[in-house]
Amino acid sequence: MTKVIALTGGIGSGKTTVSDILKKQHIPIIDTDIIARQVVEPGSFGLTQVVERFGSHYLNTDGSLNRTLLRSKIFNNAEAKKELERILHPLIQEETLKQLENYKQQLPPYIVIAIPLLIENIKNKTTRPGYIDEIWVVDCPEEQQIKRASKRDQSNRDLIKKIIAQQASRKERLSYADHVINNNGSLKVLENQIQTLLTD
Ligand code: ATP
Repeated sequence: MTKVIALTGGIGSGKTTVSDILKKQHIPIIDTDIIARQVVEPGSFGLTQVVERFGSHYLNTDGSLNRTLLRSKIFNNAEAKKELERILHPLIQEETLKQLENYKQQLPPYIVIAIPLLIENIKNKTTRPGYIDEIWVVDCPEEQQIKRASKRDQSNRDLIKKIIAQQASRKERLSYADHVINNNGSLKVLENQIQTLLTD
């Protein structure tokens, strides 16, 4: 039986790093960040909906979505954020389930769905999505998240701190974890931990 894992964690915690390690083990990865971009590609139903709701000034001159502008619009506007989610979430879910069904045909032992904002999306609901068997949370201390994310993005610490404050708290995220992947050490330690998790 295939086990479907939802992989999540805060900004800079190491989700991509963990996904890359899992990919090397030939585990299929469904990346909802990639899907979130695909559903608003030029010519898509999603983009048409976004433009209908928010206006054509959210388009770049080449017809693609101006993400930076839209991100700043929803950053401090909870209602706009909700409306955007109402448009995008069903489309992202539909594509995720399509990929999941396709991968299941290959009968792999695991399929991983990387969902960065999983906890933010399920915390007000009574149940988690039925297609998820386990939640794996990538975790490290906040200071480590700030250091790693600011170094990677060449962005300042304050911005990362603001994003962390908007995300689910570490404690809340951990309360949903079926497994915690502790990413407070070296890459080697991380790899060994994942290996153990997969052979358990
Ligand atoms: P985001 O939510 O911002 O997309 P993420 O959770 O996917 O971030 P990564 O991109 O995997 O996090 O990691 C953030 C940065 O920290 C990257 O530059 C990555 O190479 C580095 N990093 C992650 N884990 C480790 C580790 N154990 N040792 C050293 N560097 C690490």
